[in-house]
Amino acid sequence: RIAYVNGRYVAHADAFVHIEDRGYQFADGVYEVCEVARGFIVDMPRHLGRLNRSLTELSIDWPVTRGVLPIILREVVRRNHVTDGLVYLQVTRGVASRDFVFPAGTKPSLVVTARKADPAAAAKRAEGGIKVLTVPENRWDRVDIKSVGLLPNVLAKQKAKEAGAQEAWFIDADGTVKEGGSSNAWIITRDGVLVTRPAEHGILRGITRTTLFEVAAKLGLKIEERGFSVAEAKAAREVFISSATTIAMPVVAIDGAPVANGHPGSITLSLRQAFFDVAEKSPA
Ligand code: PMP
Repeated sequence: RIAYVNGRYVAHADAFVHIEDRGYQFADGVYEVCEVARGFIVDMPRHLGRLNRSLTELSIDWPVTRGVLPIILREVVRRNHVTDGLVYLQVTRGVASRDFVFPAGTKPSLVVTARKADPAAAAKRAEGGIKVLTVPENRWDRVDIKSVGLLPNVLAKQKAKEAGAQEAWFIDADGTVKEGGSSNAWIITRDGVLVTRPAEHGILRGITRTTLFEVAAKLGLKIEERGFSVAEAKAAREVFISSATTIAMPVVAIDGAPVANGHPGSITLSLRQAFFDVAEKSPA
C-alpha cells in the first residue's frame, strides 16, 4: 500500500508524521472520507467544498492548492489499485513545539490514504440491515466541523459494538435524534415521507445526506427536515443511516427493539440503488 504524506508518495508501512504534529497532540485537524465506487471517486467536489469550510472555520490554510488535491486523491487511489473502497484525507495545523495557541509560520500537514472494500460484502450488509444503540449526546457544539477529535464517537461506537449494534445514535437533551457516530440518521414515516434533522442544528452536514435529497427528488419522494424522537423512529415505517461509506444503510433495530417487521425497508433499498446514478462521479 502507498500513502501520500506532505508531498511524497511512500510505502504505507513507512508513512510517518512528526510526534509534535498538532493533529496528534490536540486533534487540531480535519478530514474527509470519499467513497470510491466502480473506479470513480464519488461526490469529490462536495467533499472538497466541506473540507474548505472545515479549514476556514479553524483558520487552517490549505496544505496544497484546491486544484491540486483532486490530483493527489486520484493518484493515491490509482497507486493502491482501488476501484471500490475509500480514500481518506487529513489536514492538520502542522508540526510545532507544543503550545495551545496557533503557531506562527507552520505549514499544514496533509496525509492521504486509500483502501479497498468489497462491494459484495456491503450489499450483503444492506440486505440484512444494521442495529443502532442510542447514547446521550456528549460532544461539543461544533460537530458541523469535520474535526479529527472523535473520542466521543469512538466511545459511542465501541459501546454500540459491545451491545451487538453497528452504529450509535447521539440523542439530544430534548430526546431528538442528532446523528450517528459516523453517519446521519433518517426515518421514513408511515406515509412514505423521508425525515432527517436540519443540518443547522448540531450535526455534520453529510455529503451523502445532501446527495440523497437529489436521489429522493428523482424518485418522487418527499423530504421533511425536522427533528424526530427515538420513539418516532421505533414506530417508523423504515429507518436508515447515511454516510459516504454506507450510502443508505437500513436500520432494523433500535436499542434491541425491531423497526417495523425487522427487515430492511424497500424505500431505503431503492434510494441505495439509485444513489450511484445521481452522485457526481470523478474518474479515479
Ligand atoms: N455524521 C458524522 C458524525 C460523520 O462522521 C459522518 C461521516 N463522516 C456523517 C455524519 C456522514 O457524512 P458523509 O455523508 O459526508 O460521509
